[in-house]
Amino acid sequence: MRRNLVGLARADLKQTLVEAGLEPFRAQQVWQWVYWHGLTDFARMTNIARKTQLRLAELFVIDRPQVVTEQRSSDGTRKWLLRFGDGNEAETVNIPEEDRGSVCVSSQVGCTLTCSFCHTGTQPLVRNLSSADIVGQFMVARDSYGEWPTPTETTRMLSNIVMMGMGEPLYNFDNVSTALRIVMDEQGIALSRRRITLSTSGIVPMIARVGAELDVNLAVSLHAVSDEVRDTLVPVNRKWPIAELLAACAAYPGARNSRRITFEYVMLKGINDSDADARELVRLLTPLHAKVNLIPFNAWPGAPYECSSNNRIHRFAEIVNAGGISAPVRTPRGRDILAACGQLKSTSLRDRRAKVSDIEAKAGV
Ligand code: SAH
Ligand code: SF4
Repeated sequence: MRRNLVGLARADLKQTLVEAGLEPFRAQQVWQWVYWHGLTDFARMTNIARKTQLRLAELFVIDRPQVVTEQRSSDGTRKWLLRFGDGNEAETVNIPEEDRGSVCVSSQVGCTLTCSFCHTGTQPLVRNLSSADIVGQFMVARDSYGEWPTPTETTRMLSNIVMMGMGEPLYNFDNVSTALRIVMDEQGIALSRRRITLSTSGIVPMIARVGAELDVNLAVSLHAVSDEVRDTLVPVNRKWPIAELLAACAAYPGARNSRRITFEYVMLKGINDSDADARELVRLLTPLHAKVNLIPFNAWPGAPYECSSNNRIHRFAEIVNAGGISAPVRTPRGRDILAACGQLKSTSLRDRRAKVSDIEAKAGV
């Protein structure tokens, strides 16, 4: 089978091409064709001799996940159902706003964690996505918007990546890290780290690595102000409770000054939405100079929760804002095409259960 060049870190691409008998400098040329120009066809790489093009095509492909369906919401949100090489599927979403477009990328098919309000959490983990699958999601979005070659920062529609699709990115850190370094490379897709946000449910031992190796914006799914409540919403809290999580956040590069961490807080009626909860949130987050993103709960069939009322959400936001912490309410986007937070699904079937423990073991947690 021909090997896919997408998803190889720069050094690995070079080594792969050299092993195939090409000169080392070809890696730089191929890199630019793949990630700057978005080519999938070696025959169009005009600075590479015909003979070498043929050799490349014999051994390699430049592959994307296959687009099974593309849906467009009335609010401009676009959602792609993608199929990876092994038949597994995941969804990717672009949320256009006035001044930017955020592509919401998945890191796993399913999730090992079982947050009780999350639809993805009801699906068993199928597998980690590879770096090719992860970069490929953004490349498909660029194909769909015709954004090749890489447009300038100010003109591009697809300006941001949020690792907020299916899965826990810090349980698949190596692949997520390789993929994000590829998209940040200035001679390729060229997204700056300021335009990338990684959201985690709170895998505490990995947070320092995100800071040291990627230094992208961090978002943390807090969702509750006491361990008692958070244990039921985000079960991984039993392993790493709130105090440990906030300590890891405080140590994140730039957290206390320029690069504020975003804490996500899903609004669940009668569960975490009281005035006292809002005041406690302010108390917990004041030392961090953090931001809060209030997310109205997006219901799914059989969900054991309801979304807080609009009045309740606004009262909650008022208290947090008055406490000196910015707390915008996230407008649900793409609800008509089930593209909103926590609504992504995949039709992939569950694999062997054993894989879950493999993945946890590999993540070293
Ligand atoms: N696994 C990572 C990233 C993906 S989830 C994490 O948990 O952070 C992206 C965000 O959507 C998280 O804050 C998650 O808690 C939230 N979310 C999940 N299900 C939701 C739902 N049904 N309604 C609203 N937000 C939800
Ligand atoms: Fe997994 Fe995040 Fe959903 Fe929790 S909220 S089950 S960590 S995807």
